[in-house]
Amino acid sequence: MRAIKNVIVTSAIAILIAALALKARTSTLPAADDATYDIVIANGRVMDPESGLDEIRNVGITAGKIRALSATPLKAKTTLDAKGLVVAPGFIDLHEHGQAPRNYQFQAHDGVTTSLELEVGTDNVDDWYAARENKSLINYGVSVGHIPVRMQVMHDPGNFLPTGDAAHREATPQELTEIKNGMRHGLERGALAVGLGINYTAAATHDEIVELFRIAAAQNAPVHVHVRYAGMQEPSTGLVGIEEVIAAAASTGAPLHIVHITSVGLKNTPQLLAVIKGAQKHGLDVTTECYPYIAASTRLESAIFDPGWQERQGITFKDLQWSATGERLTAETFDKFRKQGGSVVIFSIPAEAARAAVADPMVMIASDGIPGTDPRMHPRGQGTFSRVLGHYVREEKALDLMTALRKMTLMPAQRLQNRAPAFKDKGRVRIGADADITVFDSDRIIDKATFENPLQYSDGIQFVLVNGTPVLANGQLVESVFPGRPARAPLSN
Ligand SMILES: [Zn+2]
Repeated sequence: MRAIKNVIVTSAIAILIAALALKARTSTLPAADDATYDIVIANGRVMDPESGLDEIRNVGITAGKIRALSATPLKAKTTLDAKGLVVAPGFIDLHEHGQAPRNYQFQAHDGVTTSLELEVGTDNVDDWYAARENKSLINYGVSVGHIPVRMQVMHDPGNFLPTGDAAHREATPQELTEIKNGMRHGLERGALAVGLGINYTAAATHDEIVELFRIAAAQNAPVHVHVRYAGMQEPSTGLVGIEEVIAAAASTGAPLHIVHITSVGLKNTPQLLAVIKGAQKHGLDVTTECYPYIAASTRLESAIFDPGWQERQGITFKDLQWSATGERLTAETFDKFRKQGGSVVIFSIPAEAARAAVADPMVMIASDGIPGTDPRMHPRGQGTFSRVLGHYVREEKALDLMTALRKMTLMPAQRLQNRAPAFKDKGRVRIGADADITVFDSDRIIDKATFENPLQYSDGIQFVLVNGTPVLANGQLVESVFPGRPARAPLSN
């Protein structure tokens, strides 16, 4: 009896193993072995932060989706040779103000397949998406922005950032109603998030901010916020800035994403990271991001440079570089250029703070790229992702490659997927996922854009595919292809 039972058990196990083997085979090769894929990325080291896969695989792509991940060769109309190269999910940039065709070219060279403007955002979601439809190299998306909505309601004369009433005056009850309506409407039209730049709308009351969090919570939209204060001068420190939005998130239930933690925290960045981790540990949905540089950048005429800026940020005139010319400022040129308006690079972030944030597995990578192409602008829009992988992973060994990839692919997708389910198929190399893929040489990848010479393509990225279409092939931009699609939340009105 016992022997018979053993035989039955053994046969059952054998059948189970055979079934599992068959299932494994069919799940890695859903199509027949003789299927011909549109494109195969052959023999690359496929790295997927979600599953942990880190093996040599052939990636079969048809109709813009990943259809096969196979250890054996696949047939294709077009085969891309990835031998010796890493095949990763395309990078998702949560924070890129430059949303023009030229910015997308720089970003494609830096491995970015989805470029999102979630901090400043827009006051007209429909127009913003319509302007990029069928014209974009990479995927694109936007938040509804408190800054532009407040500027529009309060008739602010500023360019991109407020310089008048939207920065410096409390909203009337009527204006506050209009601002809230504008924000709510933007979410109904599929904005990915609510964007706040409280430091730029310095006169917005705490109550106005809480109201915006309530609107975000009602639509399950994350709030991407540049907090009210930066630096170490009490009582307006980066920590106090973070406390305001953590309290707003806790009391409303809105998911919270704090942008560019290093330019908020400066020397105290590690303390701010500890506060965010503490909030996470106690159940709050709060995340953060950084760019891998020792300088910030913004417009000189903005409220950030209202009187007292030296004390607040712990810097002075010579720490500011005028983006148009590269000259360091003096008291005289500061006044002149502030009246004129334009971008400065701000050398305010200690190297240790940048390194601590880049190395932290909890902190996402986002470029905060600047619009335009000033000859001495900040290099971050051009080089952020290659700089993390080349400088911090390979040269500094500050973090491992899979962790770095996770911070620029899976984590940003997860940040947005509750609001916009399309992100469940981004940031992964998985069967059924969108074929947004970046193929690079991990021994060679590096940023070339510097503070002296910022308009340089990154090096070492060989292929970039957006929805299955190569936009970068053999390290060169592909001409006249526009496979970028809108990354947008479902419309609710
Ligand atoms: Zn910002």
